[in-house]
Amino acid sequence: TASSPVVLEGENLTMRFGGLVAMAEVAFTLKRGEILGIIGPNGAGKSTLLNIITGIYIPSSGEVRLEGERLNGVPAHKIVARGIARTFQSSRLFGDLSVLDNVIIGRHTHTKAGVFDAIFRRGRAKAELDAAAAHAETLLKSVSRGLHEQRHRPAGELAQADRRRLEIARALATDPKVLLLDEPSSGMDDADTDALMDDIRAVCAQRPDLALMIIEHDMRLVASLPHRVMVLDYGQKLADGPYEEIRKIPRVQEAYLGR
Ligand code: ADP
Ligand code: MG
Repeated sequence: TASSPVVLEGENLTMRFGGLVAMAEVAFTLKRGEILGIIGPNGAGKSTLLNIITGIYIPSSGEVRLEGERLNGVPAHKIVARGIARTFQSSRLFGDLSVLDNVIIGRHTHTKAGVFDAIFRRGRAKAELDAAAAHAETLLKSVSRGLHEQRHRPAGELAQADRRRLEIARALATDPKVLLLDEPSSGMDDADTDALMDDIRAVCAQRPDLALMIIEHDMRLVASLPHRVMVLDYGQKLADGPYEEIRKIPRVQEAYLGR
């Protein structure tokens, strides 16, 4: 329900692709305002979990609940409208469109003006598009001043780190309750990753109820940003707890900490 601290939960999630079990009976909870890190080697099932949560994959068994309501069978676009936004491991920006337009498109689920409105009822559509542009500008500023300054540039011209920032801004344009980030620091150097962490902290400070799930490889980020870390390995949940606890697990040390 709306007052429960748990905003998103998964129970007994199993995902089979033919004979391959990509996820086996995984359970998780995510509270309002919480940052949950997800780590695990390549092929562990991390992206699969995000794809299940966002309705891209239908789990072979188990269920996902947002504020207590079952999401199984709800189409992906409706899951976004209910309050779960995400970024993808590989960029999904529209490179020819401006930074601002990319955010406005992210907002699309919240505007009533469809294509036909835009063509036949320009007045109403224009008012809604102006409101969407104003919202997008405010949002860009809140994620990154540098991004806002580049708002009229084509997204394809942005530096890698700014593209990542823009993807986060675009996901936030739907005013989500839950934000899922799939390897946001991939391709970034340490300085960019530090700046990304600052951006994420700022976003969370402005939206204290927003819950985040972050799939990450960069252990510096995993050590300092999430409140809790879940470890996936061969589709199974190996551990779930504060970084200080999970870092002591031998399998985690082997896989990540070079020991
Ligand atoms: P991770 O994100 O942890 O690297 P994934 O969730 O992408 O791992 O993949 C987990 C396993 O599931 C891998 O073995 C992958 O090949 C497999 N897998 C993921 N998606 C599909 C799919 N659509 N069809 C077949 N196999 C898939
Ligand atoms: Mg992945």
